[in-house]
Amino acid sequence: MSRYADFYRRSIEAPEAFWAEQAQLIDWQTPPQQILDAGNPPFVRWFAGGTTNLCHNAVDRHLAARGDQPALIAISTETGTERSYSFKELHAEVQRVAASLMELGVGKGDRVLIYMPMIPEAAFAMLACARLGAIHCVVFGGFASGSLASRIDDATPKVVVSADAGSRGGKVLAYKPLLDEAIRQSSHKPEAVLLADRGLAPMALTEGRDHLMAALVQKHRDAHVPCTWLDATDISYTIYTSGTTGRPKGVQRDTGGYAVALAASMKHIFDGRAGETYFSTSDIGWVVGHSYIVYGPLIAGMATLMYEGLPTQGMDRQPDGGIWWRLVEKYKVTVMFSAPTAVRVLKKQDAALLKKYDLSSLRALFLAGEPLDEPTARWISEGLGVPIIDNYWQTESGWPILTVANGVEQTRSKFGSPGVPMYGYKVKILHESTGEELSGANEKGVVVIEGPTPPGFMQTVWKDDERFVDTYWKTVPGKLVYSTFDWGIRDEDGYFYILGRTDDVINVAGHRLGTREIEEAISGHAKVAEVAVVGVADALKGQVAMAFVVPKDAAAASDEKTALLLEGEIMKQVADQLGALARPARVRFVSALPKTRSGKLLRRAIQAVCEERDPGDLTTIEDPGALQQIRQSLSA
Ligand code: ATP
Ligand code: MG
Repeated sequence: MSRYADFYRRSIEAPEAFWAEQAQLIDWQTPPQQILDAGNPPFVRWFAGGTTNLCHNAVDRHLAARGDQPALIAISTETGTERSYSFKELHAEVQRVAASLMELGVGKGDRVLIYMPMIPEAAFAMLACARLGAIHCVVFGGFASGSLASRIDDATPKVVVSADAGSRGGKVLAYKPLLDEAIRQSSHKPEAVLLADRGLAPMALTEGRDHLMAALVQKHRDAHVPCTWLDATDISYTIYTSGTTGRPKGVQRDTGGYAVALAASMKHIFDGRAGETYFSTSDIGWVVGHSYIVYGPLIAGMATLMYEGLPTQGMDRQPDGGIWWRLVEKYKVTVMFSAPTAVRVLKKQDAALLKKYDLSSLRALFLAGEPLDEPTARWISEGLGVPIIDNYWQTESGWPILTVANGVEQTRSKFGSPGVPMYGYKVKILHESTGEELSGANEKGVVVIEGPTPPGFMQTVWKDDERFVDTYWKTVPGKLVYSTFDWGIRDEDGYFYILGRTDDVINVAGHRLGTREIEEAISGHAKVAEVAVVGVADALKGQVAMAFVVPKDAAAASDEKTALLLEGEIMKQVADQLGALARPARVRFVSALPKTRSGKLLRRAIQAVCEERDPGDLTTIEDPGALQQIRQSLSA
């Protein structure tokens, strides 16, 4: 048996012994009394009786061995600033913010909503909350007032931490007016607002409620705020899912299980080592940012690089498609984490930029968040010359469900597959209607996880156990299993392939087709940069596939004749690969696709527009103009 197979088997057959061992990767104030309590399924309590603190594990415990080494490197190509904080400095900053929050009445169990751009103060605030045992709820910066208001009402924060403004591609987005409007709309009113002033946009302060962070932090310059020891099962934070498929769900996470899960993943999956630099290009508003910008790397004693800006903009705010690689060289980044959507942006840049810098420090690039298509994977893998590691997970899981654990054993990756189940995860494929387990190779079904779910996995939906059980655990009749709502298959070697979301399936004349498969066939065409396929109601066939394509050469689409030719080629390619049934009824060319703020395709909204329905909740959309283009392309 391979080393990883053995490692995995132990995690499933003897979870208590396995996780007791992993628990040693973090500091405990009181060791856990019971490793696993699965007595009330599907709820799981990990490390009950143990007490610990995330901030202690991320910051304090490194002071002795690496106090002067960099912990947080904050880079903004929006403001042209670059600042590094050692573990000692981070420790001081976090305590100052913690003392400020205490002055505003924050204590254990209180909620603090963080609505901030990617500036170091955002990380200080998260760590300060963790230090005090306050529950943080980070809301992606720049969300409109309506989305922010509904999250304020759901989280009912005592304090909101925010800033004057964020910036994107040189365009300043004032946050404070959005926040003021959100608080006006919400029924819950926070007692206080703590504001970082970057000098980007004027702020009108509300007397008695609004406080400038700089002033409070100055007052508490020498603050010593001890860590509040929390029970392992105490809540550390809540975070909302991306809202790709509907109303975002408030994912609630514990403290001890999360700390152990992250420490273990840094070792076994990311293979990141203390003293090195980790660079995740995500945002703290998403789960990847929580796990792998803030807590994971710091718990592992690594410096974490926090980046504000586009992937194509230099420190001088001039276009620079090589900025990320410049940073990898400068900070000797060993582990990098990004998303396929970002790589597709870079793919439109000159490939020579990947060769311009010394990237010899880099061991691997991890990508997650959406399907990694083969052409994109090949392009970046050839360009960087390091392993590209796809990893599949969800806000709900907090850390990868499917990938390869190169820290345990060097394992081959396969293009198109995120990999194999990670330790602790009993991943199964079930028949969508009978719930029967499909154990044969290449049988397509719903990807589910059998309980008990591993440490780090969501505890429940915030304030709504019923929604947690009903939404996730009751989709398969007669079985209590967690549904990922994704389709998948497993090949003969045990590698999983994600075939799209269960609501992304279309039914053409009685045949069920995954939109993802059609997209794969189309993205293989040399002239295609990006594609979205949706099923559209059709009187004759039930549904037909519609493809929206972003061509590599924008001019190609504007010329009617070339567009027609390309449409024909694309249709033929799909028919050749998947059969005539899968051939899209129409192919339309656009210059951008509608996505969520986290870069995920909003197929649900595209479909609604195609069917002339109301696209519904669009609060998480990045660029409403892209949806407008879809609309126009239909009438063309
Ligand atoms: P919502 O649940 O609110 O609709 P969401 O599912 O997009 O939003 P996330 O938790 O951010 O919110 O995304 C998880 C989903 O992203 C997965 O269920 C899967 O569909 C997709 N995904 C993530 N990583 C991968 C990957 N490596 N390959 C394929 N799909 C992925
Ligand atoms: Mg989801």
